[in-house]
Amino acid sequence: MAQIYLEKINKIYDNGFQAVFDLNINDREFLVIVGPSGCGKSTMLRIIAGLEVITKGKMFIDGELVNNKTPKQRGIAMIFQSYALYPHLNVYENMAFGLTLEGYDEDFIEKRVKETALVLGLSDYLDRKPRELSGGQCQRVAVGRAIIRYPKVFLMDEPLSNLDAKQRTTMRSEIIEIHRKTNATTIYVTHDQVEAMTMADRIVVMKDGYIQQVGTPHELYFHPANRFVAGFIGDPPMNFLPCSLSNGTAFIKGCELSFDFKKLFPDIASRYNKQDIILGFRPEAITTCGDKDVPNSLILAAQTELTELLGDNANVYAYMGNNRIILRVSPYNIPPINCNCNFAIPYTSLYVFDAQTNMTINS
Ligand code: ATP
Repeated sequence: MAQIYLEKINKIYDNGFQAVFDLNINDREFLVIVGPSGCGKSTMLRIIAGLEVITKGKMFIDGELVNNKTPKQRGIAMIFQSYALYPHLNVYENMAFGLTLEGYDEDFIEKRVKETALVLGLSDYLDRKPRELSGGQCQRVAVGRAIIRYPKVFLMDEPLSNLDAKQRTTMRSEIIEIHRKTNATTIYVTHDQVEAMTMADRIVVMKDGYIQQVGTPHELYFHPANRFVAGFIGDPPMNFLPCSLSNGTAFIKGCELSFDFKKLFPDIASRYNKQDIILGFRPEAITTCGDKDVPNSLILAAQTELTELLGDNANVYAYMGNNRIILRVSPYNIPPINCNCNFAIPYTSLYVFDAQTNMTINS
């Protein structure tokens, strides 16, 4: 059991940076923390580990207050981006190190090392030194060193960032598998959206020390709470068009286009009459439509500027007046550049944000 509750945590650094959060992490959950550089991801992890003295607030593990407990007393193991293996020790000795230091007997240590090596596919490498291993194997030894203690909670700070793309993909599924086998509550910090979307039970999106939204990958992608989350989750990011509303018509700023907004969002049209909103849509939600009408879709037009073939799809960079947008299209249907391109967005794929608060107002 390891259910973690962070109650009204507040950490203020000398330089004025402030991290504030209230967060409940479920037992056995795989929680991923994402956000731009400097938003406080590592700070949150260090607070949970007990490596950072908090200014205010309480932290509970399974209902027990742990503010004054060390990482070891909290039953927490951390894995960092640098594997920090001892170069002169072999894999067996690296994994056994902590247990040896704590004075466990040889037979017990051997049993644990062998069990752990089996889980991690390292049984054939126990005699090797770190320099004789690949990056992915080193990372597995680092994971092994942590799981050998049967921690209740795993904290991982960008553990895959030193690996190449192929190794990351392999290790991603290995970490999920290890999580399934150990059942330890896991909190995982990453910059990588694919890691966040594919690994997480829930994702925490942070900005400037504050939590913006906590939800499943599906919730964050389809129901972002605000413009920041909408723009942060998804690659390429969501397109945003600033609009002013007047008597049911939306006038897209920076270009000559307008459309019947009242037909799509009657409530918002009356609530926000004579005010500004931001219209959002994802690059992959569109279809190019030529002169055809597409039912239940908003048809817009953009001037194509640049195309990028990615293999299974293509990005089209285009302008709507001053607004630069990205459209994602099939590689078999890439529009020519410097042309007018009509595209359709299903009504159900449109997002509306308050231009003042940036909060989502249509979900
Ligand atoms: P990155 O993705 O770049 O690793 P992050 O989201 O993990 O960033 P943190 O390392 O948590 O961000 O840092 C958040 C902010 O807190 C930083 O911008 C920095 O100004 C401040 N900070 C972090 N550690 C300290 C410290 N020990 N002393 C003073 N300020 C700190």
